Amino acid sequence: MAHGGNNNRAIEFPDLQGYKTLVCDLHMHTVFSDGSVWPNIRVMEAKKDGLDVIATTEHLEYQPWIKDIPHPDRNRSFELATGFAKNSELMVINGSEITREMPPGHTNAIFIKDANKLMVDDPIDAFLEARKQDAFIFWNHPYWASQSPDASVPVDQVHLDMIKNGLLEGIEIVNDTTYSNEAFQLALDHNLTILGTSDIHDIIDWQYKIPSGGHRPVTLVFAREKTQSSLKRALRKGQTVVWFNKKLIGKSDFLIPLINSSLSIRSASYIRNSTIVHVVLANNSDAPYILRNQSKYDFYNNTDLIMVPPHGEAIIDVRTIDKKRKFEMQFEVLNALTAPATHPVFRILVRPKQ
Ligand SMILES: [Zn+2]
Ligand SMILES: [Zn+2]
Repeated sequence: MAHGGNNNRAIEFPDLQGYKTLVCDLHMHTVFSDGSVWPNIRVMEAKKDGLDVIATTEHLEYQPWIKDIPHPDRNRSFELATGFAKNSELMVINGSEITREMPPGHTNAIFIKDANKLMVDDPIDAFLEARKQDAFIFWNHPYWASQSPDASVPVDQVHLDMIKNGLLEGIEIVNDTTYSNEAFQLALDHNLTILGTSDIHDIIDWQYKIPSGGHRPVTLVFAREKTQSSLKRALRKGQTVVWFNKKLIGKSDFLIPLINSSLSIRSASYIRNSTIVHVVLANNSDAPYILRNQSKYDFYNNTDLIMVPPHGEAIIDVRTIDKKRKFEMQFEVLNALTAPATHPVFRILVRPKQ
């Protein structure tokens, strides 16, 4: 969603035809589990980053500050965050991190109604209770080196059964500063929703060097409207793209429309007495698009690599050899992935002024 240009740290991507682009961070911690801040700081950071949605996801089973901050109600972090977000555009979702040994490892249940009821011995009972509350459940950092020393994804029969029984609908392919090809491939193979989250424990600005132009990882969710039910439906249908370290990662169904909504021809006209078209390609998103030419034509002012800066434009002088009424340009998008090591193709029709 567009948040206006005043705050240049706000994460900005355009809406798609028929969908609102909701910028979501669905995994974070406060002092109500092992984080270092009170929930108001998570809300203030989210507002600065122009987020549409956050989920509070305290560890149920890991509570290092419980002696200092006793809180018998495990919904308390969510309630406080909701209060701090009141009178703002930020939507806060109630969630919990079900924190177990591998398998199943750590998972987030979000859109829960009562976190207290998830505190049961058998992890599967916790998932069944979350499902009863109509939660959306995803596998957190499945390749986490603390639980998987070679950072592979240790898929177990437990996970396959959970997927089969609708107890695992999504998977983090990005968590904090980490990414996994294997998790991405698993999402594609099992039709899991792909997610990227900060899992922030400390301070967003320090962790992602925001004053020097960094950004937190987020999940862009393409929902019909900005409501909890529409967001949940979009998550269940896998309508997401992850924005991580200036890269876009997602299934092609939504990643290609996002690229098409981001890039447009601002102007195109033949340079006088030549067959060279002066094309201005504009970008209305935060992504620095890196395009490799696959068109029939080459360029007078560029090699085959074009960079379209965020909220900026690139000038491409195209040698069409003959004067054309229209022609297609085609590029491989190197800063985007639709599968491990697979870049999508962006095509655009140019109708130059003669
Ligand atoms: Zn975790
Ligand atoms: Zn966590």
